[in-house]
Amino acid sequence: MLRLPRLHYLRPRSIAEATELAAQNPGAMFIAGGTDLVPNLKRRQFDVTMLISLNALPDGRRVDGDVQHGVTIGAGATLDELAHHDLLAGPFRALAQACGSVSTPQVRYMGTLGGNLLVDPRCNYYNQTYSWRKAVGFCMKKDGDICLVARSSPRCWAVSSSDSAPAALALGAEVTLQGVQGTRRMAAAALYRDDGIEYTTKRADEVITAVHLPAVPGRMTSAYWKLRRRPAFDFPILGVAVAIAWDDGVVREARGALGAVGSHPVDISAFLAPLQGARPAEDLIAEVAQSADNACGLDPLAGRLTAQVASR
Ligand SMILES: Cc1cc2nc3c(=O)[nH]c(=O)nc-3n(C[C@H](O)[C@H](O)[C@H](O)COP(=O)(O)OP(=O)(O)OC[C@H]3O[C@@H](n4cnc5c(N)ncnc54)[C@H](O)[C@@H]3O)c2cc1C
Ligand code: SF4
Repeated sequence: MLRLPRLHYLRPRSIAEATELAAQNPGAMFIAGGTDLVPNLKRRQFDVTMLISLNALPDGRRVDGDVQHGVTIGAGATLDELAHHDLLAGPFRALAQACGSVSTPQVRYMGTLGGNLLVDPRCNYYNQTYSWRKAVGFCMKKDGDICLVARSSPRCWAVSSSDSAPAALALGAEVTLQGVQGTRRMAAAALYRDDGIEYTTKRADEVITAVHLPAVPGRMTSAYWKLRRRPAFDFPILGVAVAIAWDDGVVREARGALGAVGSHPVDISAFLAPLQGARPAEDLIAEVAQSADNACGLDPLAGRLTAQVASR
């Protein structure tokens, strides 16, 4: 049985207290549902001596607003409640589908949206026990100095494996971060760096407090599709999120993003631009999907899934 390392566990009652504790204790980490962090700690993937729980923060799970004015989701809302939430049943359906496609019911009951956005990028050489990693000589993400995937690489290529991140990008979501230096709000895309180790622009003392979905002035549809080895269980091999705003059957704006194809979620909106001003028929959708595929130089399945998602 894998055991957790010895840890101090703190449970602050306010965001200000949580951020102060993080700032005063370098090496501390926040924990929400713990469904990503706890297995990673058992495998000694981080050197952490203190966990700061976000579970006692007030209003951390609130979901407010409406489609016309925008929806604000507390970062502590669980994946299960978001998968079934009425406010995510219409234009923001991609986020509900993404949350509902994470792992198993047990993980979705505990896992939160904030934790899902910040899931640690994954790699077959890294998401292993300490003894396994020791046997292969470790890698630069933890305890070693080379990349075992690409031995001459100066960087880590671990893969962004969050289901909600591409949905957040496609929906034009923003996140609010609160830290000891104050509060800032930024596009969800700006939360990520293209690096398997330093994968977020969030400072260590900053808590994601909320995710904001922008107001939808007219009709919008969105969808998230996921490819994985075991449908009941697994992280994505590929995630595709597309959101399309419509004017009387004509595409006003099309946005999309891919997950699990790089160290950050990849925005493919530029490749969906030919849809703008069009009444998309199958040939146009196929053409756009092909261009997203070729231009990204990504998994050939990306285009096929993009076409299927855009046509729904
Ligand atoms: C068997 C299994 C299968 C899984 N399958 C999937 C999958 O298919 N897709 C997927 O996306 N994930 C998957 N996961 C990973 C994980 O369960 C989910 O991503 C979950 O949403 C993580 O949320 P959490 O609240 O448990 O995060 P935690 O584990 O508590 O935290 C994850 C990270 O986020 C940070 N963090 C959490 N909340 C905040 C916040 N509000 N502000 C700042 N930092 C924060 C933590 O410090 C940590 O770095 C799987 C996990 C397991 C064990
Ligand atoms: S991609 Fe990153 S995690 Fe994987 S072996 Fe290379 S350095 Fe390690």
